[in-house]
Amino acid sequence: MPPARPAGDSGTVTEHYDVIIIGSGAGGGTLAHTLAGSGKSILLLERGDFLAREMDNWDPRPVFVDGKYISKDTWYDGDGKPFQPQVHYFVGGATKLYGAALYRLRPADFAEIKHVDGISPAWPLGYDDFEPWYSRAEHLYQVHGNGGEDPAEGHRSQPYPSPAVSHEPRIQQIHDDLAKGGYHPFHAPCGIMLNEADRPRSTCIRCTWCDGYPCLVHAKSDADVIAVRPLLERPNVTLVTGAEVTRLETDPSGRAVTGVVVSRDGEREVYTGDIVVVCAGAANSAKILLNSANDQHPQGLANGSGQVGRNYMFHNCKAVVALAKEPNDTVFQKTLGINDFYFPTKDYAYPMGNIQMIGKSNAEAMRGEKPKATMISPEWTLSDVARHAVDFWLTTEDLPKPENRVTTDADGNVHLAYEMTNDDEAFRLYGELRKILNHTGMAEHHVLRKNFYMDMDIPVAGCAHQAGTCRFGTDPATSVLDTNCKAHELDNLYVVDTSFFPSIGAVNPALTAMANALRVGEHLQERLA
Ligand SMILES: Cc1cc2nc3c(=O)[nH]c(=O)nc-3n(C[C@H](O)[C@H](O)[C@H](O)COP(=O)(O)OP(=O)(O)OC[C@H]3O[C@@H](n4cnc5c(N)ncnc54)[C@H](O)[C@@H]3O)c2cc1C
Ligand code: SF4
Repeated sequence: MPPARPAGDSGTVTEHYDVIIIGSGAGGGTLAHTLAGSGKSILLLERGDFLAREMDNWDPRPVFVDGKYISKDTWYDGDGKPFQPQVHYFVGGATKLYGAALYRLRPADFAEIKHVDGISPAWPLGYDDFEPWYSRAEHLYQVHGNGGEDPAEGHRSQPYPSPAVSHEPRIQQIHDDLAKGGYHPFHAPCGIMLNEADRPRSTCIRCTWCDGYPCLVHAKSDADVIAVRPLLERPNVTLVTGAEVTRLETDPSGRAVTGVVVSRDGEREVYTGDIVVVCAGAANSAKILLNSANDQHPQGLANGSGQVGRNYMFHNCKAVVALAKEPNDTVFQKTLGINDFYFPTKDYAYPMGNIQMIGKSNAEAMRGEKPKATMISPEWTLSDVARHAVDFWLTTEDLPKPENRVTTDADGNVHLAYEMTNDDEAFRLYGELRKILNHTGMAEHHVLRKNFYMDMDIPVAGCAHQAGTCRFGTDPATSVLDTNCKAHELDNLYVVDTSFFPSIGAVNPALTAMANALRVGEHLQERLA
């Protein structure tokens, strides 16, 4: 499908759309998908391009060592120090690289939760409001799972559309040992197109290059493959790639967005739409709004409350490897989850979070990190460590603090000030993992911290789970969006990505962004009817 470009002089507007969606990731791609059937004209503006299918997709060196698929952006931390954020600008957004662990938030996550460092606020809507949309999102994104196994999960109106991805022998053994020890390990929800009953016809080949890699065979349920590509032949949907939205213009009253300003191939273009939906990811959505300040919105668009950019969250995470004498030959490792510490326990009054598996360690991706394991087994090479490692990802909720925020400077660059919260909870979760692994034969002192996704020299750069810069709520003084994710201060501006989260819970955020996009999509269809 050829990209549209307004004809005539650069910047001349020739086409008007019913809906303009900015960003094609979990939020924007899913929203476009659900609106496409309405027949309304939809323009999807994406700053990236389609991610190339190439052998590098599945090669840890270009992916993890060279950072081939990471944006070249420079952002600045709270002290003004530049860093390269781990963001991904492609059709499908961050979902092109994500691990496709598609969890629902728990019912309790929608209510106020007391944490060691403060309060995680209640959402203006509850789990019951989101439940039907979670079910629809799970069907759209072909999530594999077994309802009822996860002790922390809420009720579901529909079963998972596909059975859980089976554990490989090493992981099954860990599962069985944990269950014998009185814990409740469960099959993690996975968005991969694996048909274990019919492997010859399965799209997914069950490989080891899933978490943090693009899927070479397009078998990962990402927003590109699932949501955007199926729309490309539709006459009412136009996708323009390489189109970076730099600013939104309003009418003199400031109540309506009248122009979406785009930089494409070094040229300025302006598009117009009845409804404009910003889905650029939490930091970039805030950036667009802040950089759109005008006389009616001097602090940035929709920012009379001063909340745009604030309350940035991205989870308090740890990557951990457990080393055992026996090798771990698991290929696809992300099949197990543990939520026994998601809520307060008898020994600790605060929630600790979620434990799940991550992609299998490999020596190439670990290059450059200090092989701490040599402290235990001096004769082990990095390859030995990678072969024996069992890899866990620990997620603790971080709190929406107003001072953790995105701002922009005079040149429009992102500045991201962030201080971690709930370190004590995260530390205790790590302690619990070490304890429970005693049941699996992996001794406590063989459980090591490592980080697989990012260079932890600049923790703030690891913004994979970024959320919360335009939270939704009922009070315009304390929130940016209303419960339909429409900006309180404008009549035709919406934000539909992880920005709307008032809190982030301790599970991965993408399914909630997808479910919310389907929810808002229905609202927009009613509005446009
Ligand atoms: C390595 C990695 C692993 C992850 N694993 C998981 C997981 O297992 N489970 C899970 O739930 N989540 C996971 N996540 C997080 C998940 O991918 C995100 O939460 C989700 O994609 C966020 O959706 P979004 O719509 O807010 O942003 P995105 O999906 O990032 O989409 C934003 C889109 O906007 C585009 N854009 C940005 N600025 C502009 C602009 N100015 N103009 C036009 N377009 C713009 C971007 O190019 C992008 O396509 C992972 C993320 C990463 C990076
Ligand atoms: S496990 Fe399946 S979905 Fe994941 S990268 Fe491999 S083939 Fe793709």
